[in-house]
Amino acid sequence: TGDWEQDCFRTGNLAYVTLNLPRIAYNSRDDNDIFDYLDTNMHLGEEVLMLRREQAMNCLDNYNLLPFLTQEAEGDRYYRINNATLSFGFVGLNEMLIAHCGEGIEDPDARKFGLEVIKYMNKRTAELTEETGLRWSVLQTPAESTAYRFGMLDKEKYGDKAILQGDDAASYYTNSSHVPVNSDVLLPEKIKIEEKFHPLTLGGHIFHAFMGESYSDPDSLMSLTNKIANNSDIGFWAYSSALSFCIKCKTLMKGLQTKCGTCGEETEVEWYDRITGYVQQVGRSRSASGGWNPGKMRELMDRKRF
Ligand SMILES: [Zn+2]
Repeated sequence: TGDWEQDCFRTGNLAYVTLNLPRIAYNSRDDNDIFDYLDTNMHLGEEVLMLRREQAMNCLDNYNLLPFLTQEAEGDRYYRINNATLSFGFVGLNEMLIAHCGEGIEDPDARKFGLEVIKYMNKRTAELTEETGLRWSVLQTPAESTAYRFGMLDKEKYGDKAILQGDDAASYYTNSSHVPVNSDVLLPEKIKIEEKFHPLTLGGHIFHAFMGESYSDPDSLMSLTNKIANNSDIGFWAYSSALSFCIKCKTLMKGLQTKCGTCGEETEVEWYDRITGYVQQVGRSRSASGGWNPGKMRELMDRKRF
């Protein structure tokens, strides 16, 4: 709405569903089929989101499960559920475009069609906002596990027809409308491609700059930051560096290291990097308490760094 208080405080995104865009492309013969499947799938998603909302209302109003959110604040209930958004996310726009247009998101003509797809989703959420009086939005699904799950399910269902990243052991789709992590495009070009989608994903988006392991000069980073902030439509972005940590002697190292530079340990060296939105332990060391799924692990190895 443009009202900071109403849009940002005491609310949030209530729930989202994620569309498997490559699967829509595998099932479609032409552009009309694509938009028909979008209609059908978004209609299903709408039902799911309304059920989620209904259940959230029950937890707030009838089951008294959320006392923090239902406490009074300034004469009003703290959590303003009517300001919360219901959202549609998506995975694999790049692979949808390869399957349908023959080229991925880096190709200008394919990208143009990709923009039409995401605009169509926005058109439907605008109608839903009008019809229901609730707030609907489109976002870039983080897809920590979904990008892998959709990829593996489609490999099983479509075999060689499926357009997948990774390898046989761990297939995955490119997140949302991102450029594939192993693409050769330079950072300014990646900005030019991905910025087109940020005004169309107002429910949430991220631009990744995966940094190399060498030292980053603060002045260069500041200059790049100014360029992104002042001269692009990128709404939110992150610089991420991979880190390695020797559990044995507690040495912290830059980059993905397979051997500790201090004590020579090889097994108990743990890796950390940004999985999508946040930095998390990868699970390389023997004593790791958790880690990334095989798809994200594969993506980590595929990431091209700037
Ligand atoms: Zn060590």
